Amino acid sequence: MPESGISIGHLLQAWGRILAGRQPNLSVELTKECPLTCPGCYAYGDEHLGGDITLRGLSDFKGDELVDRFKALVDAQNPLHLSIIGGEPLVRFRELDRILPWLSERGVHTQLVTSAVRPIPAHWAGLDRLQIVVSIDGLQPEHDERRKPATYERILKHIEGHAITVHCTVTRQQSRRDGYLEEFLRVWDANAATRLIWFSLYTPQKGEISMERLTKEDRARVIADLRVLRTSYPKLQVLDGMLNVYAAPPASPQECVFARTTHCVSSDFTTTVTPCQFGGNPDCLNCGCIASAGLEAIGRHRIKGVIPIGQVFSGSLAVGRVVARLAGRGTDATGVGPRTSSTPA
Ligand code: SF4
Ligand code: SF4
Repeated sequence: MPESGISIGHLLQAWGRILAGRQPNLSVELTKECPLTCPGCYAYGDEHLGGDITLRGLSDFKGDELVDRFKALVDAQNPLHLSIIGGEPLVRFRELDRILPWLSERGVHTQLVTSAVRPIPAHWAGLDRLQIVVSIDGLQPEHDERRKPATYERILKHIEGHAITVHCTVTRQQSRRDGYLEEFLRVWDANAATRLIWFSLYTPQKGEISMERLTKEDRARVIADLRVLRTSYPKLQVLDGMLNVYAAPPASPQECVFARTTHCVSSDFTTTVTPCQFGGNPDCLNCGCIASAGLEAIGRHRIKGVIPIGQVFSGSLAVGRVVARLAGRGTDATGVGPRTSSTPA
């Protein structure tokens, strides 16, 4: 599962939040800016925010205003787990330098997802509960082509002294080359700055026709490869239960534990991204999101071999909705309510 520090204690805390009508996970698009133009990037897709506005058209913040608004958002949501995504969060590295230590002291498990296009400040390596996830989409030739200017050369320099999680999103192009995933693992397993390696599978929007989209056969081959590779590469973090979810993802956002327990906010800190952080109309039956697979794997786990945890969560979500309504809060604990489109802050 995702290295989010999830333990029994964490689950019970999450459960408590759900019963109180709150979502325990928060995902924030820190900025609308990004120096990359990756093919298949969902954040800049026309439908990401529902079609009325795109991420580039939204407002975002800098300096004190960003720090203050971010803290207010976290105070209001009080999440157990926070993902800071983008855009490219490192374009706001000065503000993050004030935000990350504050989150660490507050006890929030924080995941910073970056392309490592610019140096990651050395002192962030010592922050408790911070996980730095670097997106590396394939071996150098393919990655550099897709993700320039965040090239291998830059990433290797910028991650020195850190203990990063390498995150690769597997596309059709990679899945069709024999031995590609193993070669990728060999390269990154040998890097001293790598602590963990994650693989997601490319998640398309419904009806999407693209070079990245995996066919059913591609998907089956990747899952089979990962089942074998996980025994040889200890830094590869993928549980059997997660591979089972990749093989049979949730049918819809209503059945997705991740979507139901995560509140996703875009760069104006007001617009919500629904039904999950992909936004738009994601093709759940072809979902390959590692966060969703991790939470879903927990959800399918059975308490004493009888009741799936997900079923208990669903009951709790229903209770949480009532609690939220009684408390007069606008958002409920499902995360799959009506889309709120852009409301400039
Ligand atoms: S780095 Fe991330 S946000 Fe920027 S273009 Fe690439 S996928 Fe999109
Ligand atoms: S994360 Fe959940 S809601 Fe989003 S595409 Fe995947 S299965 Fe669907």
